[in-house]
Amino acid sequence: MKILLVDDDQFAISLFKKFLEKESFEVVTAFSSKDALDILAIEEIDVVITDWMMPEMDGYELTKAIREQQANRYVFIIMISARGGKWRYIEAMESGVDDFISKPLDGDEVLAKLRTAKRMLAYQSVLYERSITDKLTGLSNRSKFYEFFQKEWRRLARNASPLSLLMIDVDHFKKYNDTYGHLAGDKALQEVSSVLKHASQRVTDLAARLGGEEFAIIYSNTDLNTAHRYAESIRTAVSNLRIRNEGVSPDHYLSVSIGIFSLSVTPSESMDTFIEFADKALYQAKSRGRNQICLYPNLVQEGLV
Ligand code: GH3
Ligand code: MG
Ligand code: MG
Repeated sequence: MKILLVDDDQFAISLFKKFLEKESFEVVTAFSSKDALDILAIEEIDVVITDWMMPEMDGYELTKAIREQQANRYVFIIMISARGGKWRYIEAMESGVDDFISKPLDGDEVLAKLRTAKRMLAYQSVLYERSITDKLTGLSNRSKFYEFFQKEWRRLARNASPLSLLMIDVDHFKKYNDTYGHLAGDKALQEVSSVLKHASQRVTDLAARLGGEEFAIIYSNTDLNTAHRYAESIRTAVSNLRIRNEGVSPDHYLSVSIGIFSLSVTPSESMDTFIEFADKALYQAKSRGRNQICLYPNLVQEGLV
């Protein structure tokens, strides 16, 4: 659990930091609310313990600003104040803090409140994981795909680094369901998903189920040639699962078609265009007979778009 301490009193903060570090917490410090917000923008902070009275922006305003800045992430906030009492407590809670401690600080009380924070954040993280995971396949779901894509997009745009997107669709899957039943269809989707999971192991890769039998993989810092190689090994691995799909392809096995679009990301490019181009490449792979890979730049060269 990473804790951010915010107080303009440098002596108090260094004592508090030592105490928490002795208790094995990871601690960062800020001497003003503005510094605290800068830290929160780039570091994953779990708990903020902030003093109330600070020049310029006080703990009350800081709390409101954190709630606005961290719209997608719950930060547990504890307010400290020299003045206690019921009304102080109520005012602090109204600002959006989760807990309140009055000075002088008591070590046991602080540790008890941090245990509550830990419990609540653990539960939050279970809920979050559930909300971004596709239930059937265990891959990321559509909303996580867009969240990850946006984050990587912004990161890569700083250095015009390459990003590759694979759009993957199972071939003749309606026929598969019709022949073998929906339960067998679910099982096949799970097997295809495990191939995709295996092909996206780095923290900068993400495999997602966009819906139905349609999937995508984001490969950050990956150029077209490399992405093409990955796509080929995915296509081969799915064929090698040897899942029978009678009567639909020359060899009667379940297969996937893949469209790739790859680009050095710059701020002027649009994420939507990126997805659209990868989709066009997938469409081309389908119309050329399925169980194959198409690259968007090649479509342009061949005058197909
Ligand atoms: P194409 O090669 O052109 O992609 O043909 P297709 O039959 O795969 O495509 P189509 O979009 O016509 O059909 C997709 C099928 O995927 C229809 C639907 O029943 C099936 N499907 C979608 N989601 C699920 C699921 O969660 N489980 C199962 N078993 N089937 C699913
Ligand atoms: Mg399909
Ligand atoms: Mg489809």
